[in-house]
Amino acid sequence: MEKRFVYADNAGTTAVSRTALDAMLPYFSENFGNPSGVYSVGRASRRALEEAREKIAGTVGASAGEIFFTGSGSEADNWAIRGVAEMLAEKKGRHIITSAVEHHAVFNTLEWLEKRFGFEITTLPVDSDGLISLEDLKNAIRDDTVLVTIMAANNEIGTIMPVREIGAICREKGVLFHTDAVQAVGHIPIDVEAMNVDMLSMAAHKFRGPKGVGALYVRKGIRLPSLIHGGGQEKGKRAGTENVAGIIGMAAALEEAVANMDENMARVSAMRDRLIDGLTKIPYSSLTGHRTNRLPGTASFVFECIEGESMILTLDNAGICASSGSACSSGSLDPSHVLMAIGLSHATAHGSVRLTINECSTDEDIDYILEVLPKTVEKLRSMSPLWEDRLNGKF
Ligand SMILES: *Cc1c(COP(=O)(O)O)cnc(C)c1O
Repeated sequence: MEKRFVYADNAGTTAVSRTALDAMLPYFSENFGNPSGVYSVGRASRRALEEAREKIAGTVGASAGEIFFTGSGSEADNWAIRGVAEMLAEKKGRHIITSAVEHHAVFNTLEWLEKRFGFEITTLPVDSDGLISLEDLKNAIRDDTVLVTIMAANNEIGTIMPVREIGAICREKGVLFHTDAVQAVGHIPIDVEAMNVDMLSMAAHKFRGPKGVGALYVRKGIRLPSLIHGGGQEKGKRAGTENVAGIIGMAAALEEAVANMDENMARVSAMRDRLIDGLTKIPYSSLTGHRTNRLPGTASFVFECIEGESMILTLDNAGICASSGSACSSGSLDPSHVLMAIGLSHATAHGSVRLTINECSTDEDIDYILEVLPKTVEKLRSMSPLWEDRLNGKF
């Protein structure tokens, strides 16, 4: 088979859609006005910005006044968590509940609150599919619990959390619920009302919008403190001249993703299932995450006796962009906390490979991966000192 370029790291970031790019371009040139300007070009930017806010709100069942633009998904996560901490520490308490599989934007913010401000964090374990237990959540909520922050869908293994049920429990107990929906928005249906979500994070570049723009949904009535002090932008809560083009690109991309969602989900999950069926046939391999209750585009695996990093480099040579959960973040060789949380051993977790496709992917891309990846596994195993022992049943 001829060498191809196959991008399979859409959970890392996506290519901006043509629609989003076309929508953005005028806002870099002729429509450059500052939305705070009172003259015509300023007013035109303001109108476009507010239209984008309406569109984005509409896609998640929110109203425009509940959407606040940020510079990233990480910023939205930080704001939600730090904001609630500031708002309720004196009034209610310093206890927050989360899951063991959150993104670092949530994880590290909570760790900071713990170390710096004496918050107590309860980290709910997950089962081998990556799901929390609702019973555990109910039991963990206390009088001084100010926030539950649990992601909508996992960025490494693709498992979709029972957001609606989590929301219902939080509502019943009177605790605020934030969900990091960065992997979910634009890919699976999201409705903040039906899901009882109080705050929700999203990022444009995960659904074919531009990088460097995100949003936080904040339910009406929650008086979340300001994140950035300065001018009156975003109701004075997140000062700084708005990323007008970025926001417009985000709205266009999301509108497009939602309009085509049913079709995309069906087509993308069929390709994902071909990957899962084909690659789990490789001996000593397994799928990570829930078999069916997973994001349409996420196929994640562990291959025994393989270094995920070597795999990624070898695949790159063949033109395939994939990622590995074993990425040695901050120079350490610790495997991903997500793979540890679902109960994998260090050794197994090191062999993780994540393929994330989207509506731009084609059947030919899948054929190519199915041809190249098994050979790559075989080649790397043939060079591994562990492989022989594994075959001989030594571990
Ligand atoms: C990508 C991602 C983020 C961070 O978003 P950025 O816009 O890159 O800051 C947060 N949470 C999840 C689940 C993600 O996948």
